[in-house]
Amino acid sequence: MTMKETVEKILTENDIVEVISEYDIVEVISEYVELTPIRGSRFKGVCPFCHGKDLKFKIDHARQAYYCFDCEKHGDVITFLKDHMGLSFWKAVKELALRAEIELPEMPDNA
Ligand SMILES: [Zn+2]
Repeated sequence: MTMKETVEKILTENDIVEVISEYDIVEVISEYVELTPIRGSRFKGVCPFCHGKDLKFKIDHARQAYYCFDCEKHGDVITFLKDHMGLSFWKAVKELALRAEIELPEMPDNA
C-alpha cells in the first residue's frame, strides 16, 4: 500500500469532503494568483504551474475545480495546495483543516 492509500484509509472521505466544503477554491487560489472574472462563475489567471502568458488557467467556481489549458494541470482545492506548495496529500488536507479549525485524526508526520 502506498503512503497516499494509507493516508486516505485513515482520513475518511467525510473528513476530506468536510475540509473541501469549508473552502472556496476561488478564495484560496486568489491568494496566489491574480484572477479575472469571466462569464458565469468562472475566473482566469496566469497559471502558477507553467506561467503561460495567455491566462489559460481557468477556475470554475460552481465545480470548485481548476484547469490549465496549457499544462493541463487540474484538480480541486487540495490538489492545488499539494502541487503549488509541494505538499503531500495529507499535509495539504492538514493545512486546510488547520485554517478551518477542523479536527482530523492523528497522522504520522512523514505522511
Ligand atoms: Zn499551466
